[in-house]
Order: sequence, then structure tokens, then C-alpha cells
Amino acid sequence: MTPPCIISVAITGSLPKKKDNPAVPISISEQIESTQAAYEAGATLVHLHVRNDDETPTSAPERFATVLDGIRKHAPGIITQVSTGGRSGAGHERGAMLSLRPDMASLATGSVNFPTRVYDNSPELVEWLAGEMKQYGVKPEVEAFDLSMIFQAVAMQRAGQIVGPLHIQFIMGIKNAMPVDREVFEFYVRTLKRLAPDATWTGAGIGRAQRTLAQWSLELGGHCRTGLEDNVRLDKDTLAPSNAALVKQVAQLCAEYDRRPASVAEARALLGLPAAVTA
Ligand code: ZN
Repeated sequence: MTPPCIISVAITGSLPKKKDNPAVPISISEQIESTQAAYEAGATLVHLHVRNDDETPTSAPERFATVLDGIRKHAPGIITQVSTGGRSGAGHERGAMLSLRPDMASLATGSVNFPTRVYDNSPELVEWLAGEMKQYGVKPEVEAFDLSMIFQAVAMQRAGQIVGPLHIQFIMGIKNAMPVDREVFEFYVRTLKRLAPDATWTGAGIGRAQRTLAQWSLELGGHCRTGLEDNVRLDKDTLAPSNAALVKQVAQLCAEYDRRPASVAEARALLGLPAAVTA
């Protein structure tokens, strides 16, 4: 039985600006409204970066706290996932919001080249971030930009640095990192299944690869990520009018692969997260 599909929505990211697409939510109220609309369209996980009002990325815990509060109120039960990515701070700053106990946080388990910089994740930093997540009961989403990062995640789980079944996101289509390649994608899926049979996974494609990775993930039994962080277009001629429109696109795609979007309760059960606390 293929499980229902967890649709993750990466609403903001650290790169796209209002000039790229005016629908990119930046202010606290825009982020909360955009998440609520995406949730109503079928998203069950929100991946979150926060920005200052001038659009520069920040890792300020106060800003995260306000956005998380609003999201929990307006999208009840949605899985909250904060980014510990490198553009919003340096070193331990990147995990400053983990004490807010979101459901999940991203964890890159190695370094990789990005379009114009090195995405630097030293062994010391990766271990420290994983330790903070363990301490605060935050489930990591391992960001696999390359094959070695899958092996590293499995090793960390076996060493007790990551608790519970792994959740891995395979990312393809970032310039200078792993291109969109079907054989490699299948090898990722197969390798993860061999090393960690109880793991779950999501495919994330950048730019025009977003739809391709969603199709492959639906076909091979994984989960999908969409959102303006990775892609600001609905198709090659049209800017996406909202995060919700991108979510709707994936929700419609599900039926073509005999899948359906997971409910919040199903998504939480699939990822081994506690049921949502209802107010
Ligand atoms: Zn992100």
C-alpha cells in the first residue's frame, strides 16, 4: 500500500525576493496567512525561514516564536519545521530557535557547493545541531544534497545522535550540486531502503525541477515538497500566485499516481510525530 503523500510547503526561504515574485511572504502576517492558505490547499508540513522586514534572512528566535505561534493558531496541527540553513546566521546561531521546540528542523549532514558559495556544514556543527534537536525533542529532516549525506545520517542514527526513524529529503537541481538525474534518484531511494528500512523520504526539486521531483516522488512512494523557496513559477510562463497555488498543483498531481494528500493526523503518524495538541 502506497501511503498518502505529505505535502511540505517551503513558504519563504532565504533567497527569493519580492521583486522575483511579490507573493513571497516576508512579514510575520504574510507568513502566517500564506501558511494557512497552503494548509487549506493540502499542505501538512511547513518549512520555515524568517526574514527581517528588509528581506534579509535572520535566525532571531523572537521572530521564529511569533511566526510559530500564529501558524499553530491558524493552521492547527500542521507540522512545523524550522530551517537551520546557513544564510540566516553563522555557527551556533543557526540553531538558536531549536529551544522553541518546533516539530522538526532541517539538518544538512555534510557540505556542498551552492550556486555562488560553499554551504558549509562542518562535522562539529552537524553534531552540535543534532545534539540540540535531540535535547529539545525536535525531529531532524536530513537534507541530502549528495549520497554521502545519506550514509552520514544512518551512521548518526546508529550512534544515537538522531533518535527514531530517519526522514530524509533528497534535493536535486541546485547549480553546482546534484543535478536532476533519475538513475541517481532511484539509487538514493534504494540505498535508503537498504540501510534504513523504516525511513521516510521526500523529493525536492529546485526551479523547474520542482514538478519533476514531485512526479518521481509520487511514483516511487515518497513525499513531496513545493513552495516559493524553491521555485517562484507555476509553469515556465506564469509566476506562481501563491504558495497555496503550488500546493494545489501537487495535490492534483497525486491522483495521477493513485495517491492522495495526507491529513495532518496521517502525516504526523507517518513521521512518528506526536498527535497535534488541539486547543
Ligand atoms: Zn529552506
